Amino acid sequence: MNTERVGSRSWGGWVLCLALLVSLPAAAARDGTPEVGLAVREITPELPIRLAGYAGRKRPADQIDHPLRVQALALKNPTGERFVFVALDNLGVSRMFMQPVLEQLARDYQLERGTVAVIASHSHSTPVLRKTLTDMTQPPPDDLARIEDYSRSLQGKLVEVVAAALENCQPATFEHGIGRATFAMNRRVYQGDKVVFGDNPDGPVDWDVPVLRIRGTNGAVRAVLFGYACHGTSVRSGDDWYSVSGEYMGYARQHLEAHYPGAAALYLTGMGADSDPAPRGQLIHAKQHGLELAGAVVGVLNRPMRPVQGSFKLAYDELDLPLVAPPARDQLEQDAQSADVHVKRRAEAHLKLLEAGKPLPESVSLPVAVLRMGEDLTFVLMGGEVVVDYSRRIKRLLATDHPWPIGYAYEVPCYIPSARLIREGGYETESSMIYYGFYGPFRGSIEAQVLSRLETLVTQLRQ
Ligand SMILES: [Zn+2]
Repeated sequence: MNTERVGSRSWGGWVLCLALLVSLPAAAARDGTPEVGLAVREITPELPIRLAGYAGRKRPADQIDHPLRVQALALKNPTGERFVFVALDNLGVSRMFMQPVLEQLARDYQLERGTVAVIASHSHSTPVLRKTLTDMTQPPPDDLARIEDYSRSLQGKLVEVVAAALENCQPATFEHGIGRATFAMNRRVYQGDKVVFGDNPDGPVDWDVPVLRIRGTNGAVRAVLFGYACHGTSVRSGDDWYSVSGEYMGYARQHLEAHYPGAAALYLTGMGADSDPAPRGQLIHAKQHGLELAGAVVGVLNRPMRPVQGSFKLAYDELDLPLVAPPARDQLEQDAQSADVHVKRRAEAHLKLLEAGKPLPESVSLPVAVLRMGEDLTFVLMGGEVVVDYSRRIKRLLATDHPWPIGYAYEVPCYIPSARLIREGGYETESSMIYYGFYGPFRGSIEAQVLSRLETLVTQLRQ
């Protein structure tokens, strides 16, 4: 957690903040603060549609709880550099899913790799996408055709929404603050030498609610960015929930947009892949957590916030995170006979590579990025389902840079466990790799590798 920054601010600080707030529009023009463009597209699927996130679901969804969206927020420096946050109501996208989208954005809008970050909300009540964990659900042909149709439509809307946001960029001012919501619960429970799913009130969590308010030059709130580090799994369980829903983050967005008419609320998922909402199990829990999260955001917005000024700088990289060792052919042949269809499919895919004379994967490619806004705010983005240890370490390592950790960014190749989790084992380290098609675990060195690279990127941008 990292709430003391807000709580310990001196009265002198409050007065200074208020003075700066009054002068914000003029400051924006003076210091190179970026312009902001916003766009939104509805992406609620036609029914029936298969939902992602649980292998146990037996049939497609046949109801809509609330509509799904994709929202884009473009930043444009006075010197021309562009960056686009894309907040997507979905479990997560793969590199293969994003490839045609990024190619089109590069071709038609000259957007380089890393400048468009799709951040998936990780709601487990959103449609399955093509080439993204499709094997987990093993849909029959009719369902697969619907998945293909929805995926193509979503790919088109991703291009559209980014282009639309870039086209309506206008001068803006930014303010940052951090609130707190306490429904994220560590979900790793220690039973003997095993780690199992459950509620672990003693386990690490990140209860921060980072908030960025964006106003136009007339002072009206145009957008509110907010985040939280927790799975979108309020409405378990996988085999008895068949409604399309944006989950608690969708409800939080609805509350915020109702409370601030004309403003867009965008949810940027944090690094809480080993946290689940508590309590959970019914729709009412998603509604309650959404209300709590929105309330935490409103609390931040109602108090003086910290101005964020200056143009942004971006550093993007793709890291190769090493796996312990590729599987031996004997193991693959044995796994190909497994009664567990997920184990079987993973083995078959690897055997196919061997037959084609291709090497087996020895690492996982992971996008990471740092987006620094002047001296005042540093977004740290990582692909994958990033566990909470990363969030907490990033906040300690980069405390003076005002870090805002974001997970599920760009693409989700698999879980990204910390050294501690790799040592301990459990779902996020081991069995989750089956669904993502990798033979894990990762080497314990990946945490140091990621953090050292992120520190280097931040250091470069400080200059
Ligand atoms: Zn997950």
